[in-house]
Amino acid sequence: MSDRLARDGGTPVRSTPFPTAMDPQGRTLGPAEAEALARVIDSARLSSNGGTEVPALEQEFGTMYGVPHAVACTSGTAALHLAVGAVDPAPGDEIITTPVTDFGTIIPILAQNAVPVFADVDPLTGIVDPASVEACVSERTRAIIAVHLMGAPAPVDDLAAIARRHGLILIEDCAQAYLTELPDGTYAGTRGHIGCFSLQQYKHVTCGDGGLAITGDDHLAEQMRLFADKGWPRHTGERTHLSFGMNYRMTELQAAVARVQLTKLAGVVARRRAAAARLVAGLRELEGLHLPNELDRHAVWLFPVVLDPEVAGGTNAEYAKALEAEGIPVSDGYLSHPVYRYPVLSHKRLYGGAGFPFTCPPARRDWEYGEGLCPNAEELINRTWLIVHWNEAYSDSDVDDIATAFHRVHRALRSTRPAV
Ligand SMILES: *Cc1c(COP(=O)(O)O)cnc(C)c1O
Repeated sequence: MSDRLARDGGTPVRSTPFPTAMDPQGRTLGPAEAEALARVIDSARLSSNGGTEVPALEQEFGTMYGVPHAVACTSGTAALHLAVGAVDPAPGDEIITTPVTDFGTIIPILAQNAVPVFADVDPLTGIVDPASVEACVSERTRAIIAVHLMGAPAPVDDLAAIARRHGLILIEDCAQAYLTELPDGTYAGTRGHIGCFSLQQYKHVTCGDGGLAITGDDHLAEQMRLFADKGWPRHTGERTHLSFGMNYRMTELQAAVARVQLTKLAGVVARRRAAAARLVAGLRELEGLHLPNELDRHAVWLFPVVLDPEVAGGTNAEYAKALEAEGIPVSDGYLSHPVYRYPVLSHKRLYGGAGFPFTCPPARRDWEYGEGLCPNAEELINRTWLIVHWNEAYSDSDVDDIATAFHRVHRALRSTRPAV
């Protein structure tokens, strides 16, 4: 095969599409999900109030995670909102989180009129650095939201110790991290006070949209249940509203599909791990690429590579452009900007432009979200992070095509740069 890059007119390594989360071959949906949906329709009970599927899903997910409480809701963002609602911050209180995540991690903080405070991330994993988190703690801090990014475990043992020292709630965002394992073999999502999951289309298992929040704490569970259902204590039979909440109730239709999907989760994660291990083996000898490690604990939602541009011969954007031309599903940087540079935050586009809750008072100081706030996050996004899109349906030959394209691009980009 020619060594000329497709970018420069060579024949692409790959000319057929890879399976994705938007195609039947890249999802695990089938007749069992259809049958479960039909069962709910036949019952005529589509709402979780008086239904059976949502309680069964909560029971089954709690059992899978070894926790007494799982609360189903309408999305991963909603699950995180249940968690922040249970923290019940006062306006201007602070919640420390990461600048490298889906905006669903941040929305609940803003919705509850708290201030997101961004800790910087580890330059090789993009996951919050506990030392940076601790440096962000103030007398107004109420909680930490850690993200198990792309399926890799966040350092939640260290974060739990910080939370304990300062009396904070630790929330684990597990939207990308089903069955991710911590060093002691327990699941990510069970070390903090609350773990939050998403059932959105692109996640490991899906019912279109949906979410689950788990906890071992009876009080937090009760607060989250109320928050998901307008603050209404249904079990008492009384029509009253005890606390502020939303209508985040999952329907029986979503739960019926999610229950079937859960039975496939272990297989999905195992196939993602096996395919990732094959790619790691195929890329190991390439200099200047940092590859994901400890794959037997990783959920491999995405396959992140961190480049050393000086050694690898190019930046993430140069690699992404060349690999895309070879027919490989990659993107550079994961996000276009750290989340604090999105206009909603950098220009404070909420609450009528009043600047609330980022001004003093109610905040303890005026907050600005400028360039340079988290240098490691910016370097990953701007220069070093190359994300290979991942799917449990990747075959050995799919993975080998990715490896072949990386070898070709690596050779070509390094040869056009002076040796270092
Ligand atoms: C997907 C995702 C969310 C939000 O989940 P939705 O179901 O899309 O609302 C939150 N956090 C992370 C890290 C995610 O990947």
